[in-house]
Amino acid sequence: MNTASLDSPLKPLSSEHIVDIAQQSGIVGAGGAGFPTYVKLQSKAEIVLVNAAECEPMLKVDQQLMVSESDALLRGLGYSMQATGAKQGIIALKAKYQAAIDTLTPKLPANVKLHILPDVYPAGDEVITIWLATGRRVPPAQIPISIGVVVNNVQTLINLAHAIDDQTPVTHRVLTLNGAIAKPMTVNVPIGTKISQLIELAGGATVSNPAYINGGPMMGKYLADIDSPVTKTTGGILAFPDDHLLINRRLRSDEQIMAMAKTVCEQCRLCTDLCPRHLIGHELSPHELVKSMSYKQFAKPSTLLSALTCSECSVCESYACPVEISPMRINQILKKELRASGAKYSEPIEQQDPMAEHRLVPINRLIARLKLEPFYHQAPLTTLDWQPQQVTILLSQHIGATATPCVEVGERVQVGDCIATAAPNALSVAQHASINGIVSAISDSAIILSRG
Ligand code: SF4
Ligand code: SF4
Repeated sequence: MNTASLDSPLKPLSSEHIVDIAQQSGIVGAGGAGFPTYVKLQSKAEIVLVNAAECEPMLKVDQQLMVSESDALLRGLGYSMQATGAKQGIIALKAKYQAAIDTLTPKLPANVKLHILPDVYPAGDEVITIWLATGRRVPPAQIPISIGVVVNNVQTLINLAHAIDDQTPVTHRVLTLNGAIAKPMTVNVPIGTKISQLIELAGGATVSNPAYINGGPMMGKYLADIDSPVTKTTGGILAFPDDHLLINRRLRSDEQIMAMAKTVCEQCRLCTDLCPRHLIGHELSPHELVKSMSYKQFAKPSTLLSALTCSECSVCESYACPVEISPMRINQILKKELRASGAKYSEPIEQQDPMAEHRLVPINRLIARLKLEPFYHQAPLTTLDWQPQQVTILLSQHIGATATPCVEVGERVQVGDCIATAAPNALSVAQHASINGIVSAISDSAIILSRG
């Protein structure tokens, strides 16, 4: 992709102009949450932190983009600092991303530095990234700007640079295909491509009984429909045999999860001792939540509400619990109920655990515990000489209101044309055509484009 080099000065745009471009270009957090980026850019911040930890073991996107798109990343960071008024930029990445460190180091502006993170999980949970990179702690149920920090993902900032410098909105997504797949790779594909087509292009599954996860092995979701489309937040598709523990855990029903917790939990509190949010001083104590939900015994009036502060990092389920209980799933069940009732959590932050830094999970131990070794591949950045015949562009690929179609069936569109505008007076971003073609269908949830 073309972009201005670092030799060209950043465009002298106002904050409002950068915010407007981000919204009209459809930029959302590419790290997975899909929060519209323009809202973050409206804040006034001291620090813009680039979350380049990519600590989900099998995803290989950001670490390669930091090499291939280093100029765009630094320009996107510059624009983000320009919009928010931040005086400092920090790129937080791991020592093992040596190629990225070598590429970025000689290009860093004076107000931007690298911060080398330990190779632990979840170094990429933004609350933990901030703590590791700045020493600041985000209080429970608050967001990073409450302590003067805006966090952006690598691909998000690259998208911002292209939107401003090249006037190109978000039409493509870089993602990793990994696991039990013939040719593991990281590819840049049109948004709306069927995931099943990508699996085919990567040579198909190498096992006879494949099942798929959308995202990383820790936080990714079970992919029930492999014909579903790539969205702006699809970071990776992982294939495993359908009897792999990662698939089994995801297919347990809520009833099974609750029954296991009630009958098997020995209150050893390992889940709490390793919970990253608890370690930095949040009240969240998964063993207390398991007890509360199983036996209605509440340590404090705020115990149940603290489930709202769970990041769903999966450390308690995937690593800590010795007897296969999932405090995370229990929190998810509880969160749904609490959100439906409009409940809020508002307790202050407490002392951090003196052992906090030593209790984050080493990635090599996580890989062993999750039995990932046979499925773990480098997945190099690969250029595919291929275009889909049809794409399905979802009208909501972000947190907030659905975009409103602004094209009609039969209309011809080019890559980058706006096909749905941001919902007015709401948290929302626009959507754009990712292939040249014709609008073949419009529904409440999607626009289908076909070549022709
Ligand atoms: S780690 Fe498992 S057994 Fe121990 S307290 Fe937590 S849920 Fe219960
Ligand atoms: S998923 Fe578990 S370990 Fe992670 S924040 Fe929630 S309770 Fe803590």
